[in-house]
Amino acid sequence: MSTARTAALAALGAAGFGYYNAQVPTSQVYGRTLCRNPDAGKQICLTYDDGPNPHWTPKLLEILERFDAKATFFSIGKWAHREPELLREVKAAGHAIGNHTYTHPTMALKTMGQLREELDRCREAVEAAGVEFSEVDGRALMRPPFGRRRPATMRVLKERGYISTTWSITCWDWRDQASQESILKHARKAKEGDVILMHDGGQFSPTADRNASVHATETLLEERTAEGWRFPTVPDLIAAG
Ligand SMILES: [Zn+2]
Repeated sequence: MSTARTAALAALGAAGFGYYNAQVPTSQVYGRTLCRNPDAGKQICLTYDDGPNPHWTPKLLEILERFDAKATFFSIGKWAHREPELLREVKAAGHAIGNHTYTHPTMALKTMGQLREELDRCREAVEAAGVEFSEVDGRALMRPPFGRRRPATMRVLKERGYISTTWSITCWDWRDQASQESILKHARKAKEGDVILMHDGGQFSPTADRNASVHATETLLEERTAEGWRFPTVPDLIAAG
């Protein structure tokens, strides 16, 4: 093999490595990322991104309460700014809340200054509502939009006192073709200590339709609580086992 070709392949390999670790939610290469706790026993975390949403979040709160389940909500700052009362309700019901940026950018494409601003503005909106982010090991929960992160993203998170929090099971519920059944098909794969990703809002508009996610949640809770499974927040899942 020619030297040039070897070099080209090596470069391709390095690019593939970087791509993998920027995209895959369970990758730990760029720093500690919370994504599951296999030692947690019969416990699963439900996580919801892109709220608080005036239409869907209250429906989820009602369902979660009915099954004595807790969830973790990753709030977009601009929506927290619009829905401070709802955010307070989420927190008062015992659910965990994390930072999901202010405007939902792809963090890997932003400068470190822009990342700091996204994190700080979201925190300001949440704290203006009288709510504090939930923490693990003294660091606030933060979920990068799309789960995408790179070394600079992780450095800014650490500097600002956050811990990256992704998931181990995605339900693909933001896709147009998602249905209650398609979401359940993914959610039912959850094993001990898994963290499930769903959405209670939309990054672009509060009018996003999350009916299928809400109903899939209800069915999953019916099935699993009957089998003795519990649904803790992310901090409680990480502390378990
Ligand atoms: Zn999101």
